[in-house]
Amino acid sequence: MKFSDLGIISPILKAIEKLGYSEPTPIQEQAIPILLDGHDLLGSAQTGTGKTAAFTIPILQRISTSNHKQKKKGRRQLKALIISPTRELALQISDNIASYSMFTGAKTVVIFGGVRQHKQTSALRNGADILVATPGRLLDLIGQGYIRLNQIEYFVLDEADQMLDMGFIHDIKKIIGKLPEKRQSLFFSATMPESIIALSDQILNNPKRVTIAPEQTTAEKVSQSIYYVSKANKNDLLSHVAEENPDASILVFSRTKHGADKIVKSLHKSNIRSEAIHGNKSQNARQKTLDRFKKGKFSVLVATDIAARGIDVSKLSLVVNYDLPNVPETYVHRIGRTGRAQEIGEAISFCSGGEKGYVRDIERLISQKIPVESDHPFHDQGTADRSPKKQGKKPGKKSGNKYGRKPDAKSSNKPDGKPGKKFGKKPGAKPKGKFKKPSDGNHPFKGGSKGKRFSKKQGNKKR
Ligand code: AMP
Repeated sequence: MKFSDLGIISPILKAIEKLGYSEPTPIQEQAIPILLDGHDLLGSAQTGTGKTAAFTIPILQRISTSNHKQKKKGRRQLKALIISPTRELALQISDNIASYSMFTGAKTVVIFGGVRQHKQTSALRNGADILVATPGRLLDLIGQGYIRLNQIEYFVLDEADQMLDMGFIHDIKKIIGKLPEKRQSLFFSATMPESIIALSDQILNNPKRVTIAPEQTTAEKVSQSIYYVSKANKNDLLSHVAEENPDASILVFSRTKHGADKIVKSLHKSNIRSEAIHGNKSQNARQKTLDRFKKGKFSVLVATDIAARGIDVSKLSLVVNYDLPNVPETYVHRIGRTGRAQEIGEAISFCSGGEKGYVRDIERLISQKIPVESDHPFHDQGTADRSPKKQGKKPGKKSGNKYGRKPDAKSSNKPDGKPGKKFGKKPGAKPKGKFKKPSDGNHPFKGGSKGKRFSKKQGNKKR
């Protein structure tokens, strides 16, 4: 299937070609024709599947063809509203729209909280076709009279499950109440529990459904492995992994904010340049860190789940689960950060004694066994041999919400490992090779990995 088979107009096809997309992803193949036909859509898909293009391209197309027909004079009225839970994701969506609309001339404004409103309000005053917004700032600016939603024809709620987790339900309902009845609505969520289905019922009208199972992305695109290691040796193992992959851009997940800061300190001791993003840092600081990471100024980014959710770092070659998540879906979200688009990614998970049950739960969810990598100096055979104990999370008695947000949100800062016996890196203790080659399976962006795995942009050598 080609993009040109989907009924996309030539200025957008030109932009797609310029971006180097060779063929549509499964969600694009399924969703674009439905949306161009004007249907509502309920999409189960996570980031990394190409979903942003799947919903922005048809909206852009419909707006630019009607702009073309109407050729109205005067200030542009907002025709599309896209709601995103985080500033990072909102910026990513607007960046994507800017790329796809480079030859159509549609105008987009992005607004989010945590920064002064002046730039955002003056952009709005100049008029725009598409508004990408986080819920709080949107309601704030509506209240101040800067935004009216009465001309909205296209409404997108992205990452709906995260939206609910972050407590945005009332804001979302208020926003829906301000939209015209007659509109096309799109609703995306990585998971579809009952609460999400109920919310989608309030928004959508006779929707078509598109499901891109997370298994497709995890199992087929990302090469995964488990490293058994004692808690006390996790820092040394992480330094070892980073040193073994000097050209990689690595995203490390920590369960807690405090843990993330400790990991960064430990990496600095090994002279590995690293920074952390988490909920204790301001939005601006988080964005700056993320931009520096994307530019290759440092190569190990340590993040908590909430801070990293939805971030799209192209060429991210390795995800490391320093702590395994106690909710299996979180694992899928995490490893979805790598192996994006035409890259093949790698995810490795450190597992200490108390975390074996989490591995079992994850393997059940993704319906596959994750291979064990024992060829490293900190392999803990004791943990490898131990049978998984029941973990803290019991059915119906979750310790956090389904994305394991509680530790990040409330800063329950359990140390990440007792400062036990420190293992020096013995000379000659290094494993022989680098990580295994990923399988060449058919991943959703089949077209193959370009060049060397783990490599990041050139000129990026210094750690
Ligand atoms: P998303 O799931 O929307 O976050 O997209 C993940 C990444 O895939 C983004 O960096 C997009 O630019 C890229 N992408 C989207 N569609 C395609 C495609 N058809 N071919 C290659 N890359 C794509």
